[in-house]
Amino acid sequence: SSSDIKKLRQPIVTVLGHVDHGKTSLLDKIRGTAVVRKEAGEMTQEVGASVVPRSVIQKVAEPLKNIIPLKLEIPGLLFIDTPGHELFSNLRKRGGSVADISVVVVDVTEGFQKQTFESIQILRDRRVPFLMAANKIDRVPGWQPNPNQPFTVSISRQSKEVQSRLDTLIYKLVMDLAQLGFNAERFDRVRDFTRNVAIVPVSAKTGEGIPELLALLAGLSQRYMENRLKVVEGPAKGVVMEVKEEIGLGHTIDVIVYDGILKKNDILVLAGLNGPIVTRVRGILVPKPLQDIRIVKTDFVSLDEVVAAAGVKISAPGLEEAIAGSPLYVAEDESRIEQLKKVVEEEVSTIKIYNKDVSGVIIKSDSLGTLEAIVSAVSGEKIPIRLADVGPISKRDVLEAKLSEDEAYRVILAFRVRPLTGVDVSGVKLISNEIIYQLIDELERYIQEVRD
Ligand code: GDP
Ligand code: MG
Repeated sequence: SSSDIKKLRQPIVTVLGHVDHGKTSLLDKIRGTAVVRKEAGEMTQEVGASVVPRSVIQKVAEPLKNIIPLKLEIPGLLFIDTPGHELFSNLRKRGGSVADISVVVVDVTEGFQKQTFESIQILRDRRVPFLMAANKIDRVPGWQPNPNQPFTVSISRQSKEVQSRLDTLIYKLVMDLAQLGFNAERFDRVRDFTRNVAIVPVSAKTGEGIPELLALLAGLSQRYMENRLKVVEGPAKGVVMEVKEEIGLGHTIDVIVYDGILKKNDILVLAGLNGPIVTRVRGILVPKPLQDIRIVKTDFVSLDEVVAAAGVKISAPGLEEAIAGSPLYVAEDESRIEQLKKVVEEEVSTIKIYNKDVSGVIIKSDSLGTLEAIVSAVSGEKIPIRLADVGPISKRDVLEAKLSEDEAYRVILAFRVRPLTGVDVSGVKLISNEIIYQLIDELERYIQEVRD
């Protein structure tokens, strides 16, 4: 009967990898492909995310139908626009990740680097399936570019030497993935996608291989995640990506809605700097399509409701103290509020730390996701933590740092936060860096210095 028809939501896709290996370029290329090949009226831009509609995937995958048969039931793919790999951890949700599937980008000419390993470890911990995009194939010596062509077409037009050069480079990736416990193969040699990681050679510069990348992401998520992708018509669940002040709107939150339906006037429960925030949705906003030339006050259009998966900006009163990385729940009615406040507090308390008897470092960060990543990295180096929290550096943080018995631990690690005005940090060591592994490296060097 017609009620048996599967209704699937858009899979949420994240892109991870080492700095400079091409995450931003790849997302730009995918976005460009979507804009050029979409049907009239299809939206490709959401808040903090880009959509590749079904029609675009079908068009680009058409020449591949012998290798990747594709009858699409998903409405498209939702790519999270992560400006840095650290933000990925913002996408945590209870018991896993908001991401349904990921792309690990690696520069095929450079091979695995520190953040390549880190990215795969995060995905393994959270049980997120992934593809590997072996990027920059246009830089393999002798490569003849075939712009925007499928990889399978382009590779057949390369010389035998170039083909074997690429195979050698891909074999190195296979070896590194094996070290991490994954069996991997070039995608066109994979027999069982549930057992093997598919490596897709691409160029974010020429667009080669993008058709296969999109077709595989769509095909695999639809085939193996059908249950996860079934549309649930309940109250929305989401994760706060960013807290921003917008002219005319006040404080707003950029949210990825990964489940349910979000409606205007819904009661929201989310984490704040001083405990859970309860408020009501005033506006659900998405970017205004470029061709829309009506003169309006903001760059956004307002929707009455939105169905997961989606990236939206929410305006509501009382969001000044909202925390990036926070879980977000809709309460169906007032009676659910207290319970959801507890759920939010519990989730936040698994990340924050305060051990007043520990001689250890202080960690301050801009979001729950990054805080979690730093806490885990610091703990991994067996360095004790006295306090870990979200927000700017306060007088109290400086006092706490000074209370550490061990001089080497009188440190504040700051990730994208600064001292509040008037806060004097003399007497403690302040270490700031916007790349997590460099922050940890600096901390280790400092501790060694003090010990020597
Ligand atoms: P990210 O740090 O991972 O986001 O890397 P970017 O996307 O910023 O890319 C880093 C550099 O590599 C930039 O100079 C890009 O132009 C370049 N780049 C990215 N992808 C490719 C590619 O496929 N081929 C070539 N030749 N250069 C690329
Ligand atoms: Mg980038």
